Amino acid sequence: MQAKEQTCGPVVPTAQACAVERPLGVPDVRITGGPWARWQTVNRDVSFPLGLARLESEGNFGNLRLASGETTGEFRSPVFMDGAVHKMLEAAAWEVAREPNDRLEEFLTQAGELLERAQQDDGYLNSYYQVVRVGERYTQLDRSHEIYLGGLLALAGVARVRGGGEGALPRVARRFADHLVETFLHGDGPGFDGHPGAELAFVELYRLTGETTYLDYARKMVEDRGHGMLGTGHGGLRYFQDHQPVREAETVVGHAVRAMYLEAGIVDLYLETGDRTLLDASVRRFDDMVATKMSITGGIGSRHRGEAFGDGYELPPDRAYNESCAAFAAIFWCWRLLLATGEGRYADLLERLLFNAFAASTSLDGSRFFYVNPLQRREDHFEADDPGRRCEWFACPCCPPNIMRLVSSLGHYLATTNADGIHLHQYAASEIHAPVGDGEVVLTVDTDYPWSGSVAVEVRETPAGEWTLGLRVPGWCDSARLVVAGEEVDATPDAQGYVRLTREWRQGDKVSLDLDMPARLVRPDRRIDALRGCVALERGPLVYCFEQVDQAAGVALPDLVVPSEAAVRVVDHPDHPVLGRTVTVEVAAGVLPVPAASGLPYTPAPARTDPAEPTTAVAVPYFQWDNRDGGGMRVWLPELEDGVAHGG
Ligand SMILES: [Zn+2]
Repeated sequence: MQAKEQTCGPVVPTAQACAVERPLGVPDVRITGGPWARWQTVNRDVSFPLGLARLESEGNFGNLRLASGETTGEFRSPVFMDGAVHKMLEAAAWEVAREPNDRLEEFLTQAGELLERAQQDDGYLNSYYQVVRVGERYTQLDRSHEIYLGGLLALAGVARVRGGGEGALPRVARRFADHLVETFLHGDGPGFDGHPGAELAFVELYRLTGETTYLDYARKMVEDRGHGMLGTGHGGLRYFQDHQPVREAETVVGHAVRAMYLEAGIVDLYLETGDRTLLDASVRRFDDMVATKMSITGGIGSRHRGEAFGDGYELPPDRAYNESCAAFAAIFWCWRLLLATGEGRYADLLERLLFNAFAASTSLDGSRFFYVNPLQRREDHFEADDPGRRCEWFACPCCPPNIMRLVSSLGHYLATTNADGIHLHQYAASEIHAPVGDGEVVLTVDTDYPWSGSVAVEVRETPAGEWTLGLRVPGWCDSARLVVAGEEVDATPDAQGYVRLTREWRQGDKVSLDLDMPARLVRPDRRIDALRGCVALERGPLVYCFEQVDQAAGVALPDLVVPSEAAVRVVDHPDHPVLGRTVTVEVAAGVLPVPAASGLPYTPAPARTDPAEPTTAVAVPYFQWDNRDGGGMRVWLPELEDGVAHGG
């Protein structure tokens, strides 16, 4: 791979791409405070060391040593173990681009060299097929993950080169990619994997190198899918989105993570080819997913079986699967749609995903992870595939390395430039360096977001001439106030969700945006049967939940109800003893008497009308749950209308 001057971030459309917005590099946006900074700190100090130790103890490195022939022993399953190495290499590449890190530099060098020793002469690299299934490569594309892993390796190589790094990793990645192109683009037969993901990787490889064969192969993978070529094993065609061509499918189906990677690749392909039919189809499915298949946290893929999307409105809070990787990959999709359209609704959803479904996946100290992210945990919870608590690692190690690669590259997702200037899509304390015109704009953002809706932006450096500062007014915000260089201006967003300020900016100019952020009760669509009659609590971009540990003595979560007009009180905690910086919400709730146990819990009698005793229910941000005991939690509580509880 040739290192060429390019933005150092995960998604970098070419100059000729039809991108409305242009992303900034990871080193161009320094996160300086708030939750994002905290996540990056524990990611660096706790998650990375833990992950590296696990790659050794779980056998990921060992498998590659077997493939290289330097050791003997047993292969450690599952078949896609190499993927955790590739993902952590990408994460490490962003991390060292963000700030120097000797340990991760060493990992990038040594693991790159190990991969090179394991790689076969023709470029093929997959420890499972080299050690266990010799001579059977590409015979089981529906389940082998061979091409998918090649895509992950390509992304690691791209990240390394964009960060200015060299060495074995980019060489190995390019050789495997070239081997895949030779085999599947220039060869016969279907050339795509049961697990999408290589599509977006090959578009990125094209963006880095300018080699059009990589884009051609990405297009072939996208267009070959949907014709039933993968066979019906492993859960049927819908499981891996091979049931309908991508331009025809109306809704997202099957394995949620796979569906999200595929959609991200489809939008990438649109960005580089201008084929509008690809974008239109993907937007159609996005709108349908948001309207019918998404939890309030942004979590997707409600079924445990097949880690799959359910039917429309099949969104049970207690049975929600909502894999962490699905939230991660949905962020990929949102980001590319935002680059393609400039529409703030995609930034809105990215924010919902990031602060709720995604952020909840990691413990506050960075040492434990959720694979499954339900919206309710009962006291007696047991589930074979979901222990109900975060774990240090998983037999299927997909989620933690994905979390690491997003957290290391978070700066990439905050702002973009376009022909007019700079757009801030997310709010975090930060310093932003962005090319505008022939010069560079430097902004500092000072904010306690999402705990407060006040965002102060200062222009630290600016070229001469007019440019536009765009600020997203989130969809959840009903009232905003904006002051620019001491003068109040209209804060009404345009149709795309942004306030745009165009002027000749001067060094030291200040902009302050105040987003009104009251706590609010939220009701579900009536077609979500599992939530009928319930309410949830939100404030700003945060979804809240009620944990048993916070409730008054003797008040059990299953007995809590929320009156329709319940008063809510926001309580600021600069340094909560366990949760650190947080804002809790107290709700004037009710507690119903426990019914006497008597036979079946069904009766012809009308809904119970026992009076509710008043109590103060305490809610914490969903992303901070399960950092204390393993007790009950629920996001949705029954609503008490006219003294009668309907939901639950
Ligand atoms: Zn996962």
